[in-house]
Amino acid sequence: MRAALMFGAGDVRIENVPDAAIVSPTDAVIRVTRACICGSDLWPYRKLEPGERGRPMGHEAVGVVEAIGAEVRTLKAGDLVVMPFAFSDGTCEFCREGLHTSCVHGGFFGSDEAGGAQAEAVRIPQADGTLFALPVGEDDALMPSLLTLSDVMGTGHHAALAARVGPGKTAAVVGDGAVGLCGVIAAKRLGAARIIILGRHPRRVALAREFGATDVVGERGDEAVALVRELTGGLGASSVLECVGTDDAMRTAIGIARPGAAIGRVGVPQGETIPASQPAFFDNITVSGGPAPVRAYIEELLPDVLEGRIEPGRVFDRVIGLDEVPAGYRAMNEREALKVMVKP
Ligand SMILES: [Zn+2]
Repeated sequence: MRAALMFGAGDVRIENVPDAAIVSPTDAVIRVTRACICGSDLWPYRKLEPGERGRPMGHEAVGVVEAIGAEVRTLKAGDLVVMPFAFSDGTCEFCREGLHTSCVHGGFFGSDEAGGAQAEAVRIPQADGTLFALPVGEDDALMPSLLTLSDVMGTGHHAALAARVGPGKTAAVVGDGAVGLCGVIAAKRLGAARIIILGRHPRRVALAREFGATDVVGERGDEAVALVRELTGGLGASSVLECVGTDDAMRTAIGIARPGAAIGRVGVPQGETIPASQPAFFDNITVSGGPAPVRAYIEELLPDVLEGRIEPGRVFDRVIGLDEVPAGYRAMNEREALKVMVKP
């Protein structure tokens, strides 16, 4: 089968690899009908050391179950499923607590361990716990939004929960990528009265406004902090969604948080330490978040997608085939494309 492999920074290739196959009796194999490129794929795209062996890429997919292992009980060939970016058994102590990304039998797609979704097919470990069967056909018009349940919509929701967004609150979202925009959707969905997006890309902030952002701050750093403070009567935001992962983004997030606020961080941190520790301490700011247990959120978010109350699929602004994946990485890295969908 064909799959996207990354051999180093800026070097993504489509190559022939061994077919995805059942290895363990709890596995399934899905034929990928939709995948996408994630903002977090851009970190290795910028930094990965060159290697002989390519890294399988892609951790978001919708697909059709092609084969199941002997111990898979809840799925059958032909089911259309969402593949969350992490696999999980659904039964361990952490899964039962809704923290599937810490599953004791879990792991992440887009790795040597589980293969990547930017491919014709992918092996799904712990298939019963991992996959979520969808009640629609594979070319349903809602497919872009359903695909976001594999990562970005669930991740935006996780940021909003970790930031303790609730009715009447003022939420600020740092970052105008697909996760930041889904964070706006999530904040609105959870009842935020005011949603400030920090971003400067014209098309992205326009979409943020359509998703429910009430204010846009295009400045960065100290200027952004001053503007958000001005917008909030000098107090700052009660909920801050940090959807980038850089030290600068976290410093801004802490700078715009009011005393007692919560920051939900879902941008993969690019540094070892959290900056601005002293301001965060003296203002009693909670810094929470991490990889979103999106598997736990599909049940809750799916009805809103199916009934059209939220349209996170609007973050996709380009659709490509598998052969164009290298160009898709370039387009996202250069911010020409917001989020690229792949139809293998
Ligand atoms: Zn588990």
